[in-house]
Amino acid sequence: MTRSSEFLYPPSYYAASAKPAPDAMSLDGEIRCDVCIVGAGYTGLSTAIHLLERGLDVVVLEQARVGWGASGRNGGQIVNSYSRDIDAIERSAGQSVADVLGPLAFEGGRIIRDLVARYNIDCDLKQGGIFAALNAKQMAELEHQKALWERYGYDKLELLDSSAIGREVATERYVGGLLDHGSGHIHPLNLALGEAAAVRQLGGRIYEHSQVRSITPNPAGKGGAEVLTEHGRVQARTLVLAGNAYLGGLVPELSAKSMPCGTQVVATEPLSEEQARALIPKDYCVEDCNYLLDYYRLSADKRLLYGGGVVYGARDPADIERLIRPKLLKTFPQLEGVKIDYCWTGNFLMTLSRLPQVGTLGDNIFYSQGCSGHGVTYTHLAGRLLCEKILGESAGFDAFAALKHYPFPGGHRFQAPLSAMGAWYYSMKDRLGL
Ligand SMILES: Cc1cc2nc3c(=O)[nH]c(=O)nc-3n(C[C@H](O)[C@H](O)[C@H](O)COP(=O)(O)OP(=O)(O)OC[C@H]3O[C@@H](n4cnc5c(N)ncnc54)[C@H](O)[C@@H]3O)c2cc1C
Repeated sequence: MTRSSEFLYPPSYYAASAKPAPDAMSLDGEIRCDVCIVGAGYTGLSTAIHLLERGLDVVVLEQARVGWGASGRNGGQIVNSYSRDIDAIERSAGQSVADVLGPLAFEGGRIIRDLVARYNIDCDLKQGGIFAALNAKQMAELEHQKALWERYGYDKLELLDSSAIGREVATERYVGGLLDHGSGHIHPLNLALGEAAAVRQLGGRIYEHSQVRSITPNPAGKGGAEVLTEHGRVQARTLVLAGNAYLGGLVPELSAKSMPCGTQVVATEPLSEEQARALIPKDYCVEDCNYLLDYYRLSADKRLLYGGGVVYGARDPADIERLIRPKLLKTFPQLEGVKIDYCWTGNFLMTLSRLPQVGTLGDNIFYSQGCSGHGVTYTHLAGRLLCEKILGESAGFDAFAALKHYPFPGGHRFQAPLSAMGAWYYSMKDRLGL
């Protein structure tokens, strides 16, 4: 059993306010299943639910606990579309691929709401999110984004001018924004725990503290793989790899064209009802439009959860409060002196194009990873697409798989410093409004 402190939940506000979950059961012995999924984040859990609802026998293997990865640590923001927008897909993959992936950009949020309603998941779901512009260039980009999303059939957007955004967020920093009425926010760990409960309710098996140590594809013609954990073995007709930034080097083909990156979040002490209402009166989540963006929202108990920054290569910073407090105070100087109760870090997986990597590794071995920072909605969509692919309905999966991916320049040794230099360049441009 793998139970080192490395695999305990990080000291986050989410872990401290998590709903009760069953004791972890780890895999001991040999089992068989239709589909084995590596990773109990949103990608793995959404895939499991969709497959179980279609009658398959599913096993999920998780090296730590359900939602231990990015899915249980994130900003909780239900952001529509992908980390690069649909126009980047139009340019890089052509209109026919964009015609499939464009409308899908708004499906993930709907899937989350469906799951929350269908399985009665208590995860503090709130409606509405704002993209906030810090300068005129970003505002022009938001106008372009609204037109783009509307072209793909999405009609829940409202532009905010400087006085309108001033009524939604109590900061002087923004020149305007885009309000997405179809966005929103959730307690991310409780969403993952609720989804795991749904998996169990549907007859799926989840083994925690069960790190996959090796994967051996089955002989040609048989499909699937044999998967080994420390004390167990799974013989699966189909394998789904959903380990994302935490998969490490287990599958070299998947680590070759992606880079784990860290981002940090703090949670303040609970604010008074009046303070919270003055800050974000309608309880929207907010992210700014910088390349290295800040993202924040209120929790159900009125803490300000504020995240930002990217650590390329995913080293854990020593003093998270020192990194994030200045960002928080720059946006909300009125919170000077507020106490920070929780600080944590988490890893997401970046790709060079910032679009997800989806595909097949051999016979009946599938993967989805690398949503590059905006993954709460995409991972839920990925679960549905992986399920459809396994059942032979492959249009959405194949359109993602058609996207081309390249390694980061600099190889494993220099990709993090080179990417940090690139990010510095873009953040300077943001700062100067260029
Ligand atoms: C701090 C932070 C803030 C973020 N904020 C937002 C946000 O507000 N909105 C948004 O859209 N996106 C956000 N993201 C991104 C989003 O959280 C991720 O894209 C998404 O959760 C990825 O889900 P996943 O299931 O693919 O991966 P993960 O949630 O990371 O799950 C992968 C799981 O696989 C397990 N695993 C890996 N290897 C093995 C193995 N060998 N054996 C068994 N198990 C294994 C891991 O333990 C892990 O639990 C944020 C990310 C971070 C880190």
